[in-house]
This record gives sequence, C-alpha cells and structure tokens, in this order.
Amino acid sequence: MAVIGTNCALCGLPVQHDHLVPGTSWIYRGSRPSHEPGGTLSFTPEHAWLEDAVGLRRGGNGPGRLRGRVEDGYLSDRDSGHRGSVVDSEEYVPFHEACWRAMGAPELASDAAAGDGIFQNALLETYHGQLFELPQLVADGKGWMLLDPDGSSPDARRSRERIDDLVAAARRAVPIGTRVAPSVEAMLRSGRSWTTSVSFDDEDRRTGIVRFRQMPWPFAPTGEWVFDLRAYASLVCFIKDYDGDEVGLPSPDVLDLLERFERRMKDAVEEGEVAVLVATCIRRGQAEYYVYARDEQATVARIDALAERDAPKPGDFDNSPDPEWRIFFEDVDPRRHR
Ligand SMILES: [Zn+2]
Repeated sequence: MAVIGTNCALCGLPVQHDHLVPGTSWIYRGSRPSHEPGGTLSFTPEHAWLEDAVGLRRGGNGPGRLRGRVEDGYLSDRDSGHRGSVVDSEEYVPFHEACWRAMGAPELASDAAAGDGIFQNALLETYHGQLFELPQLVADGKGWMLLDPDGSSPDARRSRERIDDLVAAARRAVPIGTRVAPSVEAMLRSGRSWTTSVSFDDEDRRTGIVRFRQMPWPFAPTGEWVFDLRAYASLVCFIKDYDGDEVGLPSPDVLDLLERFERRMKDAVEEGEVAVLVATCIRRGQAEYYVYARDEQATVARIDALAERDAPKPGDFDNSPDPEWRIFFEDVDPRRHR
C-alpha cells in the first residue's frame, strides 16, 4: 500500500491510483483521526492518464526529466529505471503527462506552471488529506475532473478546460518563491496565497470548508505589524443560507453553486483592486464570503450585479468598518488557534 500520496503540481489531482487500495495498517492523516481510507473507486481506462507522470528535476544530479509511474513518493522512469523523489517536489516536481503537455512540455522545472497558492488549485485542496479524498471528490459531483482530458465526451472536455484554465492562471501568477511586498495590492498581483482548510467531527465526517488567503498574515516573527492593510478598511461580508445536511454541509449541487458564485464574485470585486476576497467559509448551513474593500458601495454594487447572487437562496450583507482586519484574523482565519 502506498502511504505517501503525490498530487500533480499543476492540477492538484493525484498522480497515482493506489491511494485507496485498502491496507492492513492504520494511516495517520494529518489533523484527522487515524483511520483506514474510506471507500474505494473503480478506475476505468478514462482514468489511466492519472498514472502517467512526468517529473522535472529541481535538485540532485539525476536526469532532467523522468516519465513513468509514481509510487510511495518516488517516480520511476519507464526507460532508464531512474528513481527520483517527488515528496514535496524535493528532487523532482511531479505533473501528469497531460498537464505537462498542456504547459507546452517544458524541460526545466523553472519553466513549468506550478499551481501552488493559486485560487483554482485551492479548490482542490478540499480533497487533499495525506491521501487524496477521491470518493469525496466524486460524492461532491466532481468526478468529471478525473476523466482523461484528451477524451471527447462533454465531461472530458470539461476536464481539459479545467487544466487549460489552471495553466493560464499559473502563468499569470508570479513564479513560486518570489518575494511579495507586504501589501494588499502586491498580494493581489502575485496571484498566489490561497489554501483550504477542512474540518471534521469526532466521527470523521467533514463539517466545514474554509478557503482563505495565507499571505496577509500581518505579523513578523517579532510580533510587529508589517502588512499594509490601510486602504482596504471596510469589511463587506456576504452571507448565503442553504439547506445543510445533518452536519450542516450543502448537497453537491448547492456546493457547486456556492463555489461558482465564489469564483465569479472574486473576479468581480478584485477587478481594478477595488476589493479583495480573503476567505470563504462553508459550514453550519451558511456560506460566508469575507471581502475587504477600498470602496464599500462599489463592492456591494458589483456583488449585487452578479447573476448568481441569490442562488440557491437570497444573500445578505453584514458589513462593518474593520481597518485592522480583526474579524478576519481573530474570527475567521483558521491559523488563529496556532
Ligand atoms: Zn495534473
């Protein structure tokens, strides 16, 4: 059983099939209780592309590029037999072969389009445990993402569009490791800073999804305030109610609506750096979207103009002046407990 799962550095999906082969030992999955992987997934030929991996060398002295299968954190080249570690992209940065081609088949890791921190990639982090939550992804109605992007079915074309969209977003973003000035404007222009935190109850049921920006963490290690937030002093909080299940989460259709709204709303309010979406919380029958604005009225008007504003139910504003972003840092940001 592979214990170490590896995800594509562009698209966030696993680059191996064996995440869910039932094992005999218990597996530690980060913040979740130890348990065996839940559920299995029947793979078809349309899923074969997920196992065809390319690694681009980032460290060490091996060949520049490997192509083959990934198992337990190692990519073995199918021609040379060379094995390179893809754990944390230490020696090789792992991609699906299809994703690597979508990037223009770069030979150097520095020319590849890695997805770390971009918003679209954070949507997939909802499913990143130690091992990828494939059954949950399918249960959420997103099984089409697993289909071969070179296929011809409507869902396969959707899978292709998702990858092309990720390549474009990763190309717009600054290269990974670029130093970003501690200001909202620089953060917006960087195109990176997103992550997703999922909470679970004692029975290991998913109870909440919080997507948030990591970058505005305003404190230097010395405790002093270093991030310039001053221009974005108005919190525009938009709240949508939905009918939750027994643990307060939405059905797959409603989750899809909420995430679609989130994408459109982010694009609308961030156009021209008028405002910045910093977090989305989906839990307890409510979706809350936290936006800090230079111009509250203009931001509200942009949200009001969205076709998805009132789906599945009419949304409402709960705005307040918050020049130090206290509500985000003290009530919303999952890192506040650290
Ligand atoms: Zn990929």
